[in-house]
Amino acid sequence: MSKKSNILNPQIINIETGLETHKLDTIKKFPVKANLANYQPLYDTFNYDKSLSDEIIYYADGSLNVAYNAIDRHLVNGRKNKVAIYAIDNSLAVKKYTYNDLFILSNQAANALVKLGVKKGDRVFIFLPRIIETYVITLALARIGAIAGPLFSAFGPDALKDRLLDSGAKVIVTDTNLKPRLESIKKNLPDLESIVVVGGKTAELDKNEYAYAEIISNQPKTFNNCHLKPEDPLYMLYTSGTTGKPKGVVHVQNDLKCQHMTTKWVLDLQEDDIYWCTADPGWVTGMVYGIYGPLSNGASVVCFEPGFNAKAWFKVLEDLQVTVWYTSPTALRMLMKEGFNLVKEYNLNALRHILSVGEPLNPEVIRWGMEVFNLPIHDNWWQTETGSQMISNLPCLPIKLGSMGKPLPGIYAAIVDDEGNELEPGQIGKLVLKPGWPSMFNSLWRDVERYDEYFKIKNWYFTGDNAWKDTDGYFWFIGRSDDVINTSGHRVGPFEVESALLEHEYIVEAGVIGIPDEERGEIIKAFIVLKDGISESEEVLKDIKDFIKKQLAFHAYPRLIEVRDKLPKTRSGKIMRRLLKAQELGLPQGDLTGLDD
Ligand code: ATP
Ligand code: MG
Repeated sequence: MSKKSNILNPQIINIETGLETHKLDTIKKFPVKANLANYQPLYDTFNYDKSLSDEIIYYADGSLNVAYNAIDRHLVNGRKNKVAIYAIDNSLAVKKYTYNDLFILSNQAANALVKLGVKKGDRVFIFLPRIIETYVITLALARIGAIAGPLFSAFGPDALKDRLLDSGAKVIVTDTNLKPRLESIKKNLPDLESIVVVGGKTAELDKNEYAYAEIISNQPKTFNNCHLKPEDPLYMLYTSGTTGKPKGVVHVQNDLKCQHMTTKWVLDLQEDDIYWCTADPGWVTGMVYGIYGPLSNGASVVCFEPGFNAKAWFKVLEDLQVTVWYTSPTALRMLMKEGFNLVKEYNLNALRHILSVGEPLNPEVIRWGMEVFNLPIHDNWWQTETGSQMISNLPCLPIKLGSMGKPLPGIYAAIVDDEGNELEPGQIGKLVLKPGWPSMFNSLWRDVERYDEYFKIKNWYFTGDNAWKDTDGYFWFIGRSDDVINTSGHRVGPFEVESALLEHEYIVEAGVIGIPDEERGEIIKAFIVLKDGISESEEVLKDIKDFIKKQLAFHAYPRLIEVRDKLPKTRSGKIMRRLLKAQELGLPQGDLTGLDD
């Protein structure tokens, strides 16, 4: 069931009429509510001394507090008893927390943390699963002006030690299940003063370890929020480590402008929406679009504790009547692997807007989305460093399958050569941004030199990704600059080859690398994972090889194909091509602390 794929000659989803190749009457009219006419350029809107009083609230002296914006103001704007968080635990039981609940809990937590000695600027790391306390602590830290450090709950001791040592963490908040992973490393963390344990009991804890419930229980329900300068740090987050050692990216209070506005524009959150961001708050998407952005917009947010499970995911979408859903290509591909039958058992009619981020969104996944959800999936591009979405398929724009969309209002993105000269539309080059948007990372923790590296050519911010722009201003991802393959004088992005492979009915995942070749410079090798029930055989491989030759230009089809049970991924779900390459070439594997098991 191959469909013609060519990302340079895209299919377009028109917002009025649906995907061109679909029958019009099967397509829902897209009930997204955003309208480009309401968008103002970020540079104007985000200048904090201008009026944004109805969007972000600043104190008279120009300072602000993110928790005030994310919680407190909703107590006086009619949302006091609105559900802020639907917390779903591992047994799929749902507990509702209103904005008022969140106000009280985060005030008590802030008071408790201050009592432990936490001050403005201290690093407090959150090593928790996706539970209500993750939200509460993140916002309590915002009240104090302490720097929140999210840690993904799947990290093992090595990954934890790297991050906690580098950042000089003063306090860690964890739970009884995760705490054992800190045991072997805590003695080697000289700056660590306390560990707070959700679910813990004082009698079972060591010195300087505190049971969360006990330390917050008698705390006052109000707190004097710290007034913070726009440039004071808000959170710090280590990147995924897809390309190398994770970097400690520092973001500031003023990020809230971009977090708030992009949540409004791109996610299109409305008063009655039920919103689910599947990303873990240990990653930037989970922090920005799981916590800060949606709460600042007064939304109702789903917090889902269990790991991935297709049935449970569909059940949550159905039971909670989720309307806006922000997820990732990896998750969508895993759902796609289930085929069409499972999803048909659920009524997902409430869904009105679906988004994806983190990796390139293969056209095949969008087509599948059109089939099963009757909605297009909106890709968007950004990075831990950018702090908020930069390039996006806004709800009001036609989608070109395989494109990341267009730069958001006020963001200037360009494609340049190695010297920083802008290239013409259609030419592949380095994706750069004009620095200065409010959520741009303000430093790399204790690494000025590495920070400056990003900006050293003609004052562009170099993203490390390669892409091209079409004449309509849409951007198309090619690959990480390090991953781009140079074969017979042509530059080939792994995404194009991987997407073409995914069009084959037997293939559910593909990772593509270049390996050195005397004649061609590099030749392309593909690692593929086959659909359940299909096993590797000469016949299957021949079918795939014949298919892929027809799909791609002569220089771009993979000369070598290897079947794997699974591909190495970062814990945030990204295919680690550098590891595939190191394994293939017998090279050192580099930093693997971000690698999934
Ligand atoms: P590291 O910087 O440590 O190697 P990382 O780049 O994977 O890790 P993140 O900041 O989480 O860490 O990811 C940002 C990167 O993810 C982007 O630079 C890009 O390569 C990829 N990415 C994000 N969104 C998209 C998208 N919509 N399409 C293609 N790639 C994307
Ligand atoms: Mg990166």
